[in-house]
Amino acid sequence: MKKPGKVYLVGAGPGDPGLITVRGKRLLERAEVVVYDYLANRKLLKHVPSTAELIYVGKKGGVKHTYTQEEINQILVDQAQLGKMVVRLKGGDPFIFGRGGEELETLHTAKIDFEVVPGVTSATAAATYAGIPITHRDYTASVAFITGHEDPAKKTSNIDWQKLATGAGTLVVYMGIKNLPIIVDKLIRYGRDPKTPVAVVRWASTPDQRSVVGTLDTINDVVSESGIKPPALIIVGEVVKLRETIDWYEKRPLFTKRILVTRTRAQASDLVAGLEEYGANCLEYSTINIKPVDSYEVLDEELDRIHEYHWILFTSLNGVKYFFERLYARGMDARDLKGPSIATVGKATADLLLQYGVHADLIPSTFTGEGLAESLLDQGVEGRNILIPRAREGREILPENLRGAGAQVTVAPVYVNCPAEDDKETMCSELRAGNVDMITFTSSSTVRNFLKMLGVKSKQEIRQLLAGVKIAAIGPITAKTVTDSGLEVDVQPERYTIPDMIAAVVDYYSGDPGK
Ligand code: SAH
Repeated sequence: MKKPGKVYLVGAGPGDPGLITVRGKRLLERAEVVVYDYLANRKLLKHVPSTAELIYVGKKGGVKHTYTQEEINQILVDQAQLGKMVVRLKGGDPFIFGRGGEELETLHTAKIDFEVVPGVTSATAAATYAGIPITHRDYTASVAFITGHEDPAKKTSNIDWQKLATGAGTLVVYMGIKNLPIIVDKLIRYGRDPKTPVAVVRWASTPDQRSVVGTLDTINDVVSESGIKPPALIIVGEVVKLRETIDWYEKRPLFTKRILVTRTRAQASDLVAGLEEYGANCLEYSTINIKPVDSYEVLDEELDRIHEYHWILFTSLNGVKYFFERLYARGMDARDLKGPSIATVGKATADLLLQYGVHADLIPSTFTGEGLAESLLDQGVEGRNILIPRAREGREILPENLRGAGAQVTVAPVYVNCPAEDDKETMCSELRAGNVDMITFTSSSTVRNFLKMLGVKSKQEIRQLLAGVKIAAIGPITAKTVTDSGLEVDVQPERYTIPDMIAAVVDYYSGDPGK
């Protein structure tokens, strides 16, 4: 017999993908089908198994609905009847203006099992992320959630504005931007003080959050001047004043900064996570795809005589990763490396190496190939056998310096860098539209591949396209590649690590908010 399907109605939270519940995330990890909305952050879909079917039933206020509610209900029924584990992912909380109840009534009628997982509703999130405590002992003891979507021409309203106007201390209106003038008018008409503070918060808890503040008698003008559009919430009440003291989210040093992070697909994006912690809106683009080499001929041969080596040098994270993959594939492990001493170009590479069970014997104080060569030369390398597992096309400076000092150097290619093409179009259009404040480069090859992706030929063309865009380079070599291409470097940390790079970007913007 076919296993019966089940539908889990899950609140996705207000926008920040970190604000889904642990239970919601666990269900996404098990989902076979995910039916999701416009307001559910797509970043949450990264939790879903790659085999799951994703069905977008987006609804966007004002724009023609992609699916009617009846059609969505039917999709849920159909998928569950196929025996699937269905997650119905909805923005905020499913039961707060989310039609969650209607969907479940349909499932009940169709005799389909369901569960509900609440979510952080956008009202509390918007208030929190705008620095407004939704209740406060000194100001209000009650709060009302109201829909502002109701057709204002409707004769018999479901909303008793007369009672609400003064009946609750704080009012939060969902879907109210279009009807803002009517709502404000009703509140004032029914006795709310026109000087009552009002905040309007758009895309709360996301890097695109924008909020404006006024009073009941000014907020219409404030909103139309600022051009704020849905999705946004209206928060009315004395508590809005507290924003002056409590605002924290929008005060973070990189808030509103759009930073294009060039990286390799395989690399965990510590840089993005770090910049986002300070409020940046990161646009991540891989400029490089990393692939294993077609043939491990060189490395295999050297591994057979690894005990003859005095040094193994790792100059990149991927060098470590692919070296060990091959080592394991050949039935060897860390114990086979006990002969040679091991050096890495920097701390991150050494940390990764330790995850494979091996301590680095040497990390230079300057994290570059030159720095590494210098440290080794200090120790004397004449007649020493040195193995460098690294990218097929890499800089020759390290092997050359070592050879110059009398070492026997073997370069074993373990991976290949190739330009990534997938996101080229979106990246270029973001740049052309002037949507980028800064670009970060963490290696010379990210610079070169980025320029290749742009497809521009002359230095003048590059400068034109990137006019006004700031550039951060992790170290002097990356910086030189940037300046060689005709651009200028605005930010460069003293030490060539990701945490230092993040700190340098924060420093750059903290000094002068006008940048
Ligand atoms: N179930 C959802 C609400 C859906 S109604 C919840 O619990 O939050 C859609 C309305 O929610 C939008 O028109 C807007 O008023 C509000 N909304 C949802 N997400 C929002 C966000 N991130 N920022 C501001 N308003 C949001």
